[in-house]
Amino acid sequence: MALTKKGEFWYGTTSGDTQAELRSYSVANRHEAVRFAASKCDCGCRSFALQTDEEAGVAIRTCTDCGRQHLMGDNAEYVEEAVPEAHECVCENEVFELMSGVSVYEGTHDVRWYYIACRCVECNLVGVFADWKCEAGDAAAFLAKV
Ligand SMILES: [Zn+2]
Ligand SMILES: [Zn+2]
Repeated sequence: MALTKKGEFWYGTTSGDTQAELRSYSVANRHEAVRFAASKCDCGCRSFALQTDEEAGVAIRTCTDCGRQHLMGDNAEYVEEAVPEAHECVCENEVFELMSGVSVYEGTHDVRWYYIACRCVECNLVGVFADWKCEAGDAAAFLAKV
């Protein structure tokens, strides 16, 4: 596995590549992601359409197989005011594998910043599509719901 750069974009082939890109983005953001989890639908599928509202701190993934919608991290308290927008790759595809990462408050397991990285299933572009300050409590419990 290795990330390769074409123009201004990075491309990878595995979830490890997506995780590596997420980490380097988070380091540049000065809240280094230390825990990660890949999204998987209850039906077993790993490719999704993604809608986010960074302002409201809301992300919704829709399974491309069974159509089930899931609120990532289950942050239901903010969803009413949210205006989630769909993400599209530079290749115009809208189907992605999703990798979540969080930074935590020093000396705790409490989530401080949330990142969502995507890998396009068509062209293999990888990138962080959304991130926000997120005080969601226990990182393991949060990442179990992405
Ligand atoms: Zn599904
Ligand atoms: Zn693409």
